[in-house]
Amino acid sequence: MDRKNTAIVLAAGQGKRMNSRVQKQFLELGGKPVLYYSLNCFQQSPLITDIILVTGAESVAFCKEEIVEKYGLTKVTKVIPGGKERYDSVYEGLLACRDTEYVLIHDGARPFITEEIIRRGIQGVEKTGACVIGMPSKDTVKIADTQGYVAETPERSSVWTIQTPQIFEYNLIREAHEKIRCRDMSAITDDAMVVERASGAKISLAEGSYKNLKITTPEDLDIAEIFLKNI
Ligand code: C5P
Repeated sequence: MDRKNTAIVLAAGQGKRMNSRVQKQFLELGGKPVLYYSLNCFQQSPLITDIILVTGAESVAFCKEEIVEKYGLTKVTKVIPGGKERYDSVYEGLLACRDTEYVLIHDGARPFITEEIIRRGIQGVEKTGACVIGMPSKDTVKIADTQGYVAETPERSSVWTIQTPQIFEYNLIREAHEKIRCRDMSAITDDAMVVERASGAKISLAEGSYKNLKITTPEDLDIAEIFLKNI
């Protein structure tokens, strides 16, 4: 591989919905921190050149000693502090990249990323310069109005629920962030939205897996323990 593919792994969230003293990315899953699993998948992947880990300023030393060094994650070249919102942490990660051609932005709270998902994401980004991983929705989705009533029902076959990684040509996502950073970004919940707002670039969809869940609430950790036993 002569192209440089950098993974930015995000672990700077507070995880308030977890109701736990320990942030969700550091909770134990099968005796190891949740964050270890995605870092290790990128470490093992021949498609990934280097990894930038973004975490809370108070967790940088912990991540270096207790995760990166402890588990021999030699592709992690930088552990840097993130920002207030997820998109701020992503921007810090983008600023820390050097000579990157494709960047894979991944939630450290999603331990079940696989080599196949990385491969499909890279195939997708080669087509359009931007690719998001997701899965067709199993549930019918309803859009609510501000009063809590149903406003509309999109056709289920066209609804995907979106996961990470989200993969971009480096210049495309960096320029998109720079273009909209001065605007209100409060509704931005994923990386593709930054590109959608900043440019007309086409974004391809590639399948992740129904197992590629994000540990968000306590029951997700119970489900993750079951998934881990079946790997
Ligand atoms: O809060 P949410 O579940 O959307 O977080 C998704 C990922 O983004 C998590 O891995 C979390 O640690 C990360 N994050 C971050 N910086 C923030 C907020 C979230 O790195 N300010």
